[in-house]
Amino acid sequence: MPIINRIAEFQEEMSVWRRHIHAHPETAFEEHQTAAFVAGKLESFGIDIHHGLAKTGVVGTLKGAHGDGPAIGLRADMDALDIHETADRNYASTNPGKMHACGHDGHTTMLLGAAKYLAETRNFAGTVQFIFQPAEEFAGGGREMVKDGLFDLFPVDTVWGMHNFPGQELGTFGVCPGPAMAAADTFDIRLKGLGTHAAFPHMGTDVMVAAGQLITALQTVASRSMDPMESVVLSVTQMHAGDTYNIMPEEITLKGTVRSFKTEVQDVAETAMRRIATGIAASFGMEAEIVYQRNYPATVNDITESDYAAKIAADVVGAKNVMIGLPPKMGAEDFSFMLNERPGCYIWIGNGPGEGGCYLHNPGYDFNDKALPIGASYWARLVETRLAK
Ligand SMILES: [Zn+2]
Ligand SMILES: [Zn+2]
Repeated sequence: MPIINRIAEFQEEMSVWRRHIHAHPETAFEEHQTAAFVAGKLESFGIDIHHGLAKTGVVGTLKGAHGDGPAIGLRADMDALDIHETADRNYASTNPGKMHACGHDGHTTMLLGAAKYLAETRNFAGTVQFIFQPAEEFAGGGREMVKDGLFDLFPVDTVWGMHNFPGQELGTFGVCPGPAMAAADTFDIRLKGLGTHAAFPHMGTDVMVAAGQLITALQTVASRSMDPMESVVLSVTQMHAGDTYNIMPEEITLKGTVRSFKTEVQDVAETAMRRIATGIAASFGMEAEIVYQRNYPATVNDITESDYAAKIAADVVGAKNVMIGLPPKMGAEDFSFMLNERPGCYIWIGNGPGEGGCYLHNPGYDFNDKALPIGASYWARLVETRLAK
């Protein structure tokens, strides 16, 4: 069963929506125009809407024509990034410094396309919750929606997500059963020494030298403290200290991220980091202040529902175009907060070759409009199969 014919008929219309959203990117919890656009479309399809969950989130509720049945949650993200769009296209960003460089314009449009079709046909028994969430990129809009009672107000048995992937062929899907995306933690380590004249280091305690040792020692968290069979990466990404040539600064701050797939691994990493930072600071006669924050948990696909997602994807694009058992990625995704509440699966949809810098979070990126009917058909087929009358 390929792309649904009725959805193919309004491919052009979906393209127009996608380009409109692309031209008007909005970032975390400021997706007011985007949310109004989404709500307007859902209303025009005759779908009940609820505004304002997690500030700018929108949920549309649609009941099938064939009575009661299970409830299913389909989620799309609406937010853009703080990136200046470089490509010359007639629907380029009209908000300087903001850009849909992760394809959430496409995700929103694919779910709207499915909503339009399902509202016309309603050929299912049960309820669909169309979940349009804000602030996926940094600020945890998914977490805020769950906190605001998403699944109490709009109960579902399962919840499903989708993300495009450049470099993955158009017309393909990828499924990663089990852990799919990493947990993303951040750390801030402040070393507090005693500043002094750079020509008289013995009069102070030098945070620069201590920080150098600390950066090297932190690399042993992954290589020496962790079970070698576990996946983890620790990256120091920022270092802030000093103003001039001849003064040893009082303080230095190191910042970075830890990515992993299990709570136990996060526990080991945090404990080892604290021990190493405190120990190195003490060895240089200074103090360390450590802030370790667990932001997004790992995105873990239910194994059974991963199989289900793969079967639906195969219905749309053919089994040979569905890759099952893709390796997990060290990126993070706040759909994890929803998957922690309800079983489901987060699937990758091919965006075609990443030519011309067309990769996620690149200023040359663009969502591939040809993927719109494929993704919308996946959503629609998922509903009609899972909620079959
Ligand atoms: Zn992104
Ligand atoms: Zn994204």
